[in-house]
Amino acid sequence: IRAYFSLIERSSGFISGLVIVLHDVTEQQRTERERRQFVSNVSHELRTPLTSVKSYVDALQDGALEDPEVAHSFLSVAQDETTRMIHMINDLLELSRMDSGTMKIDNEFINIANLFNYVLDRFDMIIANDDKPEKYYTVKRVIPDFQIWVDVDTSKLTQVLDNIMNNAIKYSPDGGVITARLEDHQTEVVLSITDQGLGIPNKDVTQIFDRFFRVDKARSRAQGGTGLGLAISKEIIERFGGRVWVESTEGRGSTFFVALPYEPYNEIDDDWDDGDWD
Ligand code: ADP
Repeated sequence: IRAYFSLIERSSGFISGLVIVLHDVTEQQRTERERRQFVSNVSHELRTPLTSVKSYVDALQDGALEDPEVAHSFLSVAQDETTRMIHMINDLLELSRMDSGTMKIDNEFINIANLFNYVLDRFDMIIANDDKPEKYYTVKRVIPDFQIWVDVDTSKLTQVLDNIMNNAIKYSPDGGVITARLEDHQTEVVLSITDQGLGIPNKDVTQIFDRFFRVDKARSRAQGGTGLGLAISKEIIERFGGRVWVESTEGRGSTFFVALPYEPYNEIDDDWDDGDWD
């Protein structure tokens, strides 16, 4: 709290009062601290892949180029690292558009069960057509044939569900089952994706949607992760008036939930049928 004092002085020179203004600056300081932390995170996140690319290029210059096999593998590392940096910059640009309110959203009413099925069909297709996948997985669906229409940007919601599905696969054991559920909670629909993966420690559950947060930085980087996917997902869902959260048991698996609000149209129809105009 910052305090400002000022004396009220009459023209005669008498002091007739004292004004104290108390200004709560905690929120302001928190935002400023978060901003600094963010800039520092971005710098660190980019420095690691850049330093790594530089050291591989240096090694190539210093002679590794003479050995085609070594040269090939060094170039692959440089390629992977640059790809990851491009992903990160694209994610950062997307977050910045969200922060400044310039992200374009094209909302339309979509049948949520159809969209969820469409997203999952693609993951079934990927595994069915991969002769030698890095990891096998099965997607189990518990998706009733609801006729529920939600007002969302289809491509942005697809991006969120893809992100959660990709994480579920990434952190699952080989042969793991991923369960996708759709539930009607009257004023909102809840989509959930459950994996049998390594889970998230209790202490980290609240931070999982923070920018750059990863439970295991080294592993996430090794898998090409940026630590921004869930932060972007949260912002998108909140833009639709929805919520995202996770429930997890370490060593057992995690469930990511996405709740989206909807207007229960049937009730309005019923009112009309009753001739009830109130
Ligand atoms: P990343 O690019 O690292 O995957 P995300 O923002 O998508 O970034 O996820 C942030 C972190 O949350 C991950 O690094 C990982 O530690 C954790 N995480 C996300 N999904 C899962 C999951 N299904 N199981 C366990 N941990 C997860």
